[in-house]
Amino acid sequence: MSSQDHTHVRPWRAIERRVSRKIRVGDVEVGGDAPITVQSMTNTVTADAAATIAQVRQLEEAGADIVRVSCPDEDSTAAFREIARAAKVPLVADIHFHYRRGIEAAQAGAACLRINPGNIGSPDRVREVIQAARDHGCSMRIGVNAGSLERDLLEKYGEPCPQAMVESALNHARILQDHDFHEFKISVKASDVFMTVAAYQMLAEAIDCPLHLGVTEAGALRSGTVKSSIGLGSLLWAGIGDTIRVSLAADPVEEIKVGFDILKSLGLRHRGVNIIACPSCARQGFNVIQTVETLEQRLAHISTPMSLSIIGCVVNGPGEALMTDLGFTGGGKGSGMVYVAGRPDHKMDNERMVDHIVELVEARAAEIERTKAPAPQAAE
Ligand code: SF4
Repeated sequence: MSSQDHTHVRPWRAIERRVSRKIRVGDVEVGGDAPITVQSMTNTVTADAAATIAQVRQLEEAGADIVRVSCPDEDSTAAFREIARAAKVPLVADIHFHYRRGIEAAQAGAACLRINPGNIGSPDRVREVIQAARDHGCSMRIGVNAGSLERDLLEKYGEPCPQAMVESALNHARILQDHDFHEFKISVKASDVFMTVAAYQMLAEAIDCPLHLGVTEAGALRSGTVKSSIGLGSLLWAGIGDTIRVSLAADPVEEIKVGFDILKSLGLRHRGVNIIACPSCARQGFNVIQTVETLEQRLAHISTPMSLSIIGCVVNGPGEALMTDLGFTGGGKGSGMVYVAGRPDHKMDNERMVDHIVELVEARAAEIERTKAPAPQAAE
């Protein structure tokens, strides 16, 4: 059996997703029964369109569904048009306070505006931004951050807390709802995992819009990954979250990789080869760690969901192979066993194993893609 389809026989792996309203970010659906999307944000100077397009491209190749680009000034929104034209994925324009930037970004092809309506200013300005979003088919994201809560809420609650974050989010949401604008999602991020999780749990009860998950300023690659995995992981496990962004002080491509790894670990989304490997020990029949590292690099181009087990010896190899599409288990005398669809298939020398596994994975991916492709139309 393939490892991809399991919940009917393994009910303990099933996650019941919170039912949210579905919105669109360009041609990508967010919420409802749409797959949970993974996003990241460029960190180039937006006004440098060429550099930003190059980074959007890298993120697309890593599998990003949506990319956010910040628009702090007019030069950025001017470059946004060229960036949006070149991007294959929908772009979210990150606007903080300036309503003009919001309007310009909507006109320049943003699929979504990240803007808090309560921060825009006068009712006229709010109306103008909402109208621009409506005219250009933009959705919006309300992004509440524990570090920048409104002064009145801080006075009311004494310090940033989940209740204050949710109240802020609902205040912003009300402004959009009062304008009969419902194409929005919300995030309530904090750098503290407990506060983030509590705020999202509360918000999930209070409103039916899709939720954009993130632990803000999570940290560098390793610590940020751990923090995000705990925060986002526990929310996703509880069925909360429709789109995610892992914030790392690292290359944004890493955010996409970690985002997919979190979703893969919970069986919520599959992309590329999910490599299951043992930590290795004195029993290993080949160098597991080095092999897995090489395979991860050589299989990075595969986007077809597939699972592969690379296990050092027969203690755990056959059992893991049973649950993966392809597997290799170390044996004695410089060779191991290749498993196909859970069954021992043929022996292979350790030395040729990496090339062989890469070939098998590529062939299997091509086969899966072929079966997914629509049948060619008969010639008239
Ligand atoms: S599977 Fe074998 S080699 Fe890998 S950690 Fe377990 S005992 Fe060691």
